[in-house]
Amino acid sequence: MKNVDRYLDAKIGHPNISYVNSRKSIDKVFYMPIGRGCLNQCSYCGGSTYLWSNHWGNKNISFRDKNVVLEDIEKVYQRGVQCIYFEFDPYPDSEKYYLQLFRKIRERKIKVGANFVSWCPPSKKFVEEFAITFIQDFSAITISIDSASEKIRKINKNWNYSNQQLLDNFKLLSHNNVYFFVSFSIGLPFETIEDIYLTEKMIKYLLNTFQCHCNVSAIPIEPSSMMYYYPKEMGVTLYRNSFDDFYDFSKNISEGIYPKHPLGYSTNVLEEKEIIAFKMKSFKKNFLNLKFLKKKVLQSNNKISSYNLCERMKIFYAVIFNSPKILWKNTYL
Ligand code: SF4
Repeated sequence: MKNVDRYLDAKIGHPNISYVNSRKSIDKVFYMPIGRGCLNQCSYCGGSTYLWSNHWGNKNISFRDKNVVLEDIEKVYQRGVQCIYFEFDPYPDSEKYYLQLFRKIRERKIKVGANFVSWCPPSKKFVEEFAITFIQDFSAITISIDSASEKIRKINKNWNYSNQQLLDNFKLLSHNNVYFFVSFSIGLPFETIEDIYLTEKMIKYLLNTFQCHCNVSAIPIEPSSMMYYYPKEMGVTLYRNSFDDFYDFSKNISEGIYPKHPLGYSTNVLEEKEIIAFKMKSFKKNFLNLKFLKKKVLQSNNKISSYNLCERMKIFYAVIFNSPKILWKNTYL
């Protein structure tokens, strides 16, 4: 936190964050560190319980002291931050922690927004407390479900919730006036074209039914993930196999060079370039349709910074001209 002012001045973060992840545009977000560890094992993730227990010998979750976090929230709030990002949700341990933190935020009368990245559908109690704690125009609950296919979720995420449970959860969020953002991924191990169509169908349904937004990512291979350690079992072919490969890839990013293998893998079903093409298609559908753009312009609080505007224009350009290279430079897919 001693570098908080430098952090807030830096042009970091995904430019779309302020664009689609809340009802109103946000200029200043802050990613609040909350803890370390995970109890889950998503196939693509390099920070799963597998890494924590095998590399660091730690099977436990560590949370920062709530009072210290509260002080940090107050500090960034006083510096004009409109939205605090909470990207640490090792459910079920996390619920009790956050409910107490939310109560403290209310007691201090800190009027800020929050984006809570939920690792599974949040409980009724959680949604209700979130709704009364944060300024909802600058807030959202992000749910990473990855796929609309229950089968693919089970293989890749270990979470066991049905699409009906998800639907009930989306209704609960809507009922409590909580904007939500649903995050999907394309190119997951064992995902077929039919599974991708299910995802596309669910996105269409969500966008037409609720006040929410959806995004589709293609996740580059992460070292220490199950896909990396067990490519054969996970049905993937890797194009990054060593520390040097990851070093070169990161160097490409820092120098703005489009890497030979942006994702670093193909699956048994989809080639790397096909996964990227699906991602581009989905980006075009969800971000470049007039209905969506009109809605965002009307909801904008006219505080879009020139930086964000410029970044968005580059993304639009990339999608319109079907250029993965430009999209890559601005979103890393
Ligand atoms: S992506 Fe999955 S494995 Fe990784 S931190 Fe989140 S819940 Fe844990």
